[in-house]
Amino acid sequence: MAQFEDNLAKADELLKRFREGPALHYIAGRLTAGRSGESFDNLTPIDNSVIGQVARGNAEDVDYACQAAWSAFPAWRDMAPAQRKKILHHFADLIERDAEEIALLESMDTGQPIRFMSKAAIRGAANFRYFADNCPGARDGQSLPMQHHINYTLRQAIGPVGVITPWNTPFMLSTWKIAPALAAGCTVVHKPAEWSPLTAVKLAELADEAGIPAGVWNMVQGLGEEAGKALTEHPHIKALAFVGESSTGSMIMAQGAPTLKRVHFELGGKNPVIVFEDADLDRALDAVVFMIYSLNGQRCTSSSRLLVQKNIEQEFVARVAERVRKIKVGHPLDPATEVGPLVHKRHFDKVMSYMDIARKDGAEITVGGETMADLAPGNYVQPTLFTGARNDMRIAQEEIFGPVLTAIPFEDETEALTLANDVEYGLSGYIWTADVGRAHRMAQGMDAGMIWVNSENNRHLPAPFGGTKASGIGRDGGDYSFEFYMETKNICIALGDHAIPKLGV
Ligand code: NAD
Repeated sequence: MAQFEDNLAKADELLKRFREGPALHYIAGRLTAGRSGESFDNLTPIDNSVIGQVARGNAEDVDYACQAAWSAFPAWRDMAPAQRKKILHHFADLIERDAEEIALLESMDTGQPIRFMSKAAIRGAANFRYFADNCPGARDGQSLPMQHHINYTLRQAIGPVGVITPWNTPFMLSTWKIAPALAAGCTVVHKPAEWSPLTAVKLAELADEAGIPAGVWNMVQGLGEEAGKALTEHPHIKALAFVGESSTGSMIMAQGAPTLKRVHFELGGKNPVIVFEDADLDRALDAVVFMIYSLNGQRCTSSSRLLVQKNIEQEFVARVAERVRKIKVGHPLDPATEVGPLVHKRHFDKVMSYMDIARKDGAEITVGGETMADLAPGNYVQPTLFTGARNDMRIAQEEIFGPVLTAIPFEDETEALTLANDVEYGLSGYIWTADVGRAHRMAQGMDAGMIWVNSENNRHLPAPFGGTKASGIGRDGGDYSFEFYMETKNICIALGDHAIPKLGV
């Protein structure tokens, strides 16, 4: 209780500045309200009250930011990698120093429980450290000798890049994109989500304090269809790293097409967790519950479809239900809270609409299905479990992005694989079995960019992260990130006097 009260007092103090003035843009090394001076309300999902204003960036602000990124690019690209590495490590130090502040702001802004957000800030710092350490080798290439020539390759930063991020764990996701871009030698224009503007300001301020030169990191607040669209269309931006909904991804691809932008998309998911009868069911239970109800279910890799073998279905689903009933829903700053309010009233309405859809389609709501009346007017949803569902129901096909799990039985391995793949998405998949051969067969057969066997989602930064089908294009992590933010150049040199074809002799 004391910790909760302490968090509330600290958050109130941190939010004071956003009550006094809008969450600003950061362009060419300066915090600015932008050309129009217009702003929009920022609401906290805790009670939907206004906690401040957000500068509403327009095409002019985006142009100013892109010009700044363009001018700063050559010097940043050509800076000695060891120096860039030093600056990025310093940046990580500052994130760690302010981790508590970042976590409190993020929780107030997004409704994500503080127990997860404190770790998200530290993970943000880890992203910077990892790419800082790999910065000196990012340009390395291959040597490809021929008899009379030698080819060698090297990589060079692609140019200024646009980074567009969503509102679920916005701080961590932004660092995941921006850290490799900067380490590669790119300059950045970041457009954070309109529903989670606060930690983007904090990030920009830390960039300044870390000594990142003016124009290397720019951030424009605003609406997707306004500031975001202008960024995707700007001719100075060479590549777009986008995290968000699949439908937004296709819009961005179209918007970026006239200027031939390279795109990297991390999109939605409807990820299966498959539990076979021979699995360690205690551990599977922990993972199943964690992977859908943590982060308010607003997690791209959440296991939102539980595929469970028929002969253990009743017992396993009953155990899941028992856990779900006990999940503690509450204020995101309360350290005991496991599920907080959903980010925005509009998203809350979308999630709640699936309760009716489930009933209409003939599924049962075994747990939850209602709002948390005692926590109104916040966007609180009861953790929910749908049973008696089929894979062709909307609750099994569409990304709900809330603390809502759909359980579906299967007979055997073949049926499990068919159900797992029968969705438009292909981000991640989870398999629980004691049979090693089956684990491999399923992992190889599943349409997904990432598979975890007998594990919840955990992240190793050199490993590729990304999705297939409607879940994305491209991979993040390790060298995969550098591949995206850099151009590979081949240089071919003659070793001697080889015969050159002669014309017009
Ligand atoms: P969203 O697509 O609505 O918005 C994401 C960002 O795109 C925001 O900054 C928004 O302002 C911007 N945007 C919207 N329209 C735009 C346009 N026309 N041009 C340019 N920018 C535009 O997504 P969201 O609702 O903020 O986030 C939730 C989604 O993100 C879910 O689908 C989730 O699965 C996905 N996500 C995926 C991953 C992953 O790694 N695959 C990670 C996190 C979230």
